[in-house]
Amino acid sequence: VGDGQSLETTEERIDYLIKKWPNLAPLLERVKNRSAALSVPNQSPMERFLKRHLSVTQLCEQSWCEIKMAYGFVKPKVRMLEMQKTEVTTGASIHLARELEVKPDVVTVAAVTREDREALKLISMLQMVPALEAGQLVREFPVFGVLEGMFFMGVVDKLYRSDSGELVLSELKTRSHNSLPRPPRTRGHSLQVGMYKLLFDSMVKGSVKRDHLLHNLQLDPNQVLGSDLQTHTRTLGLQAVTFRELLDHLLVVLTCSNLCAIDKLRLEYSHQSSGKLIGTREVAFEEAQLRTKIRGYLAYWRGERVPQGVEVEEAWKCRMCPYEETCDWRRDRSHRLMMVNKRAKLEC
Ligand code: SF4
Repeated sequence: VGDGQSLETTEERIDYLIKKWPNLAPLLERVKNRSAALSVPNQSPMERFLKRHLSVTQLCEQSWCEIKMAYGFVKPKVRMLEMQKTEVTTGASIHLARELEVKPDVVTVAAVTREDREALKLISMLQMVPALEAGQLVREFPVFGVLEGMFFMGVVDKLYRSDSGELVLSELKTRSHNSLPRPPRTRGHSLQVGMYKLLFDSMVKGSVKRDHLLHNLQLDPNQVLGSDLQTHTRTLGLQAVTFRELLDHLLVVLTCSNLCAIDKLRLEYSHQSSGKLIGTREVAFEEAQLRTKIRGYLAYWRGERVPQGVEVEEAWKCRMCPYEETCDWRRDRSHRLMMVNKRAKLEC
């Protein structure tokens, strides 16, 4: 309430403050713009944040808190500092160390164009498919394709055959606590492996088309691969001069391989400081439920609804959030809760 007026929206509150303290107008206008960036104006978040496709990890972040994810775009410096936290960098180092265990011979290849950089991923996949067919364990396997009308990309941590011959997709998660996480903390992890399975399965079934990748990543199919890359492809016995030739080759290799759909999804939790395995969890795969969830998350990206923050049952997430002090959603939630409590007291 400002001078007896009821100020419902953030914009109304900011306008009130600007009138009251005009010298603070530039700062308050900035706050207003940030607030507008999180609501639904004429542009969808896909358009506003200049996105043509999404990563699987983006949806996992969204499943934690949509407002936090949206703040990450509006306040990139805060997000960058969060990504530099020891837990995140240690997790990345453990992933790299495990990848090097199965790929000891690292070859340096110069990538000149965007097509070259994407070609390196395709070449890595072309090397991993036969290894997987032969029953070997592979790590950092890229996956891509269209889910519910949106192009997604991701990288599967580990694929291998179990003793009984099942194809297992496993994702490594590192934790600072030496214990398995409780279910609310693993929701995003289950979403991640479920989406990886959908993408991997559609790749080996031949549902991924050349144009999906070219169009969504804006790649030139006729781009000639860099000379370093062409030399590398020749040493691997591949005949590809342009990006399209390499991509077509990969799509044929995937669909003609003896690989079938993923049989099992697994989460592996490892202790950050000791590097020891804490435990594993199997993840149930319910395709219809998973697709409904994905559509729900995509509704935000398509501008069909406003982002949602965490509700009071999961308020513990806010205590570890870098936007805790400035979050409008959290403040409004506390206000709503206070009003509910007041009303309950009056009714008593
Ligand atoms: Fe989400 Fe809470 Fe952070 Fe706000 S403070 S962005 S509601 S986690």
